[in-house]
Formats: sequence, structure tokens, C-alpha cells
Amino acid sequence: MQIRQLLANIHTQMFIDGQLVSAHSGKTFAVYDPSSGAEIAQVADGESEDVAAAVGAARRAFESDAWRRMPPAQREHLLLKLADLVEAHCDELAALETLNQGKLFGFSKMLEVGGSAQWLRYMAGWATKIEGSTIDLSLAFPPGVRYQASTRRVPAGVVAAIVPWNFPLLMAVWKIAPALACGCTVVLKPAEETPLTAIRLAELAHEAGFPKGVLNVVTGRGETAGAALVRHPDVSKVTFTGSTEVGRIIGAQCGQDIKRVSLELGGKSPVIVLDDCDPRKAIEGAANAIFFNHGQVCTAGSRLYVPRAKFSEIVGGIAAVADSLVLGSGFDERTQMGPLVSARHRDRVVGMIAEGRAQGGEIVSGGGAVPGDGYFVKPTVVANEHCKPLSLVRDEVFGPVLVAMPYDDLDEVIAAANSSEYGLGASVWTNQLDRALQVVDRIEAGTVWVNSHNMVDPAMPFGGFKSSGVGREHGKAIIDAYTETKSVCFAY
Ligand code: NAD
Repeated sequence: MQIRQLLANIHTQMFIDGQLVSAHSGKTFAVYDPSSGAEIAQVADGESEDVAAAVGAARRAFESDAWRRMPPAQREHLLLKLADLVEAHCDELAALETLNQGKLFGFSKMLEVGGSAQWLRYMAGWATKIEGSTIDLSLAFPPGVRYQASTRRVPAGVVAAIVPWNFPLLMAVWKIAPALACGCTVVLKPAEETPLTAIRLAELAHEAGFPKGVLNVVTGRGETAGAALVRHPDVSKVTFTGSTEVGRIIGAQCGQDIKRVSLELGGKSPVIVLDDCDPRKAIEGAANAIFFNHGQVCTAGSRLYVPRAKFSEIVGGIAAVADSLVLGSGFDERTQMGPLVSARHRDRVVGMIAEGRAQGGEIVSGGGAVPGDGYFVKPTVVANEHCKPLSLVRDEVFGPVLVAMPYDDLDEVIAAANSSEYGLGASVWTNQLDRALQVVDRIEAGTVWVNSHNMVDPAMPFGGFKSSGVGREHGKAIIDAYTETKSVCFAY
């Protein structure tokens, strides 16, 4: 793969109504290579006029017979074709992602591109399986008249899909694949840090044969393009993945407008090691749970709870893993951990580590940024032996920072794990089925893993309890998120 050749072909315009277009204002913003801090490209800075054009195109496409009345098998066929094209462009898409987001090239290929193809194929299958029911009604008025009802699931309309920068391509596909399978049309807004693969995805959808206007991409900032998209009256449904802070703003606006909304938000996921767990397995599992994707994972296992007797051994083992990780460019095969996504995010993470230290957390490994132009933060392990109320225990860091605490009994650790405003993911590490199930039963989280962490699948519902969100993605449940129920009542 020639990165130079790839750079010559980076597409930086928005994709609206079947074509690449510049921002109405002509403005652009820079996107960077987080491993070097170098500017990669200037991308169209979409604002409300561009959002209006994209939503207008999506609305026209929704109202035409070309999409929502297309036979479901044909929609399925197009999604399968898009999956094939995504796979055929694996190196290009993965290189764009690694260049712009910083993750390891192998992960970009396997998770961003491979995962996207898998999600597209799974959701393609749903296009032909959306169904309602028939109901015999009891009330009969006037006397002698009977009624029978049927329900249909009809597409919700124009979907505004707003996604974050941690898995730019995959998060976009998590939203567009089910929305398109259900017959909705979409305006996708990628994060301003990582817009490049979304633009290519829309181009590939066009190449696959999706009618124009069915999938549009507006690149731009959250407060301008994102906010205008959420507010637009022709948007019927908003699906958002990002921070709880922005989720609250979007949720409030959608409440005001009585607009359908799904929110996939932040997390502070606990990793609970039970005393029968082999310490080697706990060390490997907990290190993967926090350091995967450089900690920039909504379900990152960022709070570790370890039986007091094994605290030093397990925390010391994870610190040794952290010390051994090779940091560098995602394109370098020796690299085991890449940079954080932006200088701003790096500074935020470093600030949170410093605050944790000032509040009494003991830095066992890492503890700050790597000097240089790239946005690297050392994998960091903080021991909180006296379970102080550190902000690191409460707040989402979204970086490679683990805070570890000892515990004495199961009730204590369940209470500690649940004492968070978040409830996205959790894991329990044990070989004892009955104890695993006791924890599963009592943990407040949308996903509880047993002897694994961060595993997701298109067939498995995913979403949050509490401030981690509203609604579920993936699996059968996703059909409800992108369709409305229409009851049809027959008199006879
Ligand atoms: P963010 O909330 O800052 O931004 C997410 C997206 O929202 C971006 O596209 C941004 O431009 C847009 N946005 C920002 N302000 C907006 C506004 N006022 N109106 C409309 N759109 C707006 O989040 P981020 O920093 O990009 O991503 C990190 C966060 O995402 C973390 O909190 C993480 O936990 C969360 N996340 C959650 C999941 C999940 O499935 N639950 C998955 C990945 C990431």
C-alpha cells in the first residue's frame, strides 16, 4: 500500500444528492494525522445551508418511490453490494482511518473495514424480514360489525446520524446499515476530527447503486452542522453516538421537537475480578479491556476491582503490560498502541491524570504524555488503594487510563461498580458459573461480559442503562428504532 498515493486521492468534500460538493460558504477545516500532528487535508466545513441541502435531498429520496417502495430484496441486494465494495477497498479505507484516527492498521482492516462489511451484511438480511401482525379486535360497533387490525412497520423517514471519532467508519455503518435496511434515508455527520472514511463510504454507496439522496454526508462541526441537523424539521429520527454531555443537548432538543431519538453515550465500565480467577488471565483481560483502541472505547474497562489479597500482584502485572507497550504510528508494524485522536483530547486526558494524582491516586505506570509532535499518552495505571473518591473513578477519561481498587466482599464490589452515573458495559472474571450469574444479575449495565470485555456483534443488542443512553443498537431490536408502527383497521 502506498500512503503517498492514497494521500493524493483523499476526498474532502461533502456528499449530497449523489455528488461531492463544497460547503456553501466555501469554508474548510483542517484534519490531522494524530501520530505526527501534521495536517492531512482541508475538509468542507458544512453549516446550516449545507444541512438544509442534504436533508432536502434525503427527504426527496424518501418521498420518491425509488427507495422506500423499492422491493426489500433489492434494498438487501444494494447493502450486500456495498459490503462487497467496502471489503474490496479494505486497504484504502483502513489506511485512511489509521492516518486520520491513529489506530493500528491491522485493527483498521479487521475492525473498521471487516466489521463494517459484517454489519452491512447482517443488516441487509433484515430488509426482507420486517413484519407486523394481525389482531382480532373485540369491540364491535355498531352491533354486527366486526373489526380486524393489522400492523405494519414503516420507515421512520429521514434519519440524522451523528457519530464520534473513535471508530469512525464502524460507527457510521452501525447507523446507516439498519436505517437503510428499514427504508429510511440518511444524513450522516461524522466527527470533525475524522470525516474522511464517511465521505468514501457515501461514494461507495453511490457506486453500489443506491439512488441519489439516500445517503448524504455533511462534514462540519458539532455546534453548527450537528445542531442544525438535529433541529431540522424534515428530520424524523436522530441517532447519536457520542458524549453524555452532547447527548443531553440533543435529547433535550428532540424532546422539544417531539422527534424520535436514540442515544449511545459515555461509560465508566467496571472490570470485576473474582478471587478464583487466575491472576494471569485477569492481568491480560484487564489490560486489553482498557488499552484496546488506546482506551478510546465507550465500554473501556476503566475501573478495575480486585480482591484485596491479589491487588498488588494483579495491578503490578497490568502495570508491567503497560510499561511494555510500544507506542508509535499505526502504520508501523512494531506499534502496539497508537496516539490519541487530537492534541485537545491528549491534553484533556493528561489533565485528568494529573488531577487523579493530586487527589491521592498512586501512578503505578505511565502518567503523562510522550514528548513530541504526535498526540501520544503513556498507558497509565493508577492504584487507588484506599478507594478515595477520585474524579478518575467517576468521570469518563476516554483514554488509556486505568484506576484500580481493592475490595473485600461481593456486596461491596457490586455496590461500588454500580455507584456510577453510567451503565454501558461491565465484565466479571471467574470460573464459577453461579457467582458469575450473581454478578450479571446485579450489575446495572447494558452489556455484561463474562471472561471477556468489549466484544460486540451485529446480532447482540448494545446500549446503555442510566446516563449511558436511550435505546439499543444491533440485533432484532434495531428495527423498532428506524420504523414506526402503523395500525390498519378493517371493518367487515
Ligand atoms: P462528542 O459528543 O463530542 O461528539 C460526537 C459527535 O457529536 C461529533 O460528530 C460532534 O461533531 C457532534 N456534536 C457535538 N456537539 C453537537 C451538538 N451540539 N449538536 C449536534 N451534534 C454535536 O463525542 P466524541 O468526543 O466525538 O466521542 C467520544 C464520546 O463518545 C465518549 O463519551 C464515548 O463514550 C462516546 N461513545 C459512545 C459509544 C456508545 O455506543 N455508547 C460509542 C463510541 C463513543
